[in-house]
This record gives sequence, C-alpha cells and structure tokens, in this order.
Amino acid sequence: MEGAFSFEKNERDMNNNKHAAMMERKQEMMQQRRDAGSIETNFPEVTSINMNMTYNQKGTKSILRTFHFIPSSYAFFIVNCLRKDCVDGGFDLTQVITTMVRNHRAEVKGALSCKGTDSSTNHSDIVYEVSIQYA
Ligand SMILES: [Zn+2]
Repeated sequence: MEGAFSFEKNERDMNNNKHAAMMERKQEMMQQRRDAGSIETNFPEVTSINMNMTYNQKGTKSILRTFHFIPSSYAFFIVNCLRKDCVDGGFDLTQVITTMVRNHRAEVKGALSCKGTDSSTNHSDIVYEVSIQYA
C-alpha cells in the first residue's frame, strides 16, 4: 500500500513541476509578444494579416484556426501545437510573414510540422494560408 501511495505522490509532484514549467513558458511567450511590438511598428505598410491554419493531428479530426491581425496587434506569429504537453514545439510563422512583407506578397500557402522535442509522436502538422493586405 505504501508503495502505491509514494508512487502516486511522485506522479503528482511530476505533474506540478510540469505545470510550473508550462506556466514559465507561457510567461516567456507573453514577454516575447510584448517585445515583438506592434504590427504597425514592424510593418507600417500592412493593414491586416489573416492566418488560416488547418491542424492535422494523428487520430483526431483536423481543426481549422483563424488568426486575424490589425496594425495594433502584436507582431507575434508563433502558435502552439495542439498537443497539451508539447515541449518547445509550436509553429513559427515569423519568417514566413517577414518574407511576405519584404516581397509584398499578398498570399502564401505552406505546411509546417511541430518542432516539439519531447518523445511523443502525437504532435500536429499544419497547413497554413497567410494573406496580407497592404496600405
Ligand atoms: Zn508539438
């Protein structure tokens, strides 16, 4: 009985640590967002950005998420993986959008895989469509 109890306790501590680490990452992300500045500061010629993402994850139905950015939005284009416990994963569209703006492209499509470093194979892939309106 005692053995079972201590196992449970360890499990609980592990989850707490995981949770703390996740909160820390979340705060880091929020800080990164603030550091990124607004769309109008980074890309003054952009009036709006739309990102359509189709998430494909093994064993689940694909999910469509849409992100809309206006000039006062943070110029932060990292979205998370669908996997709850994903470590260091997510999808970084910063490069895609920066390149689009530099070349004044209105629409780009592509695909990305989660770069999560934990061992699970349950990370998601996305197919993205980005459209940008210019002033
Ligand atoms: Zn992931």
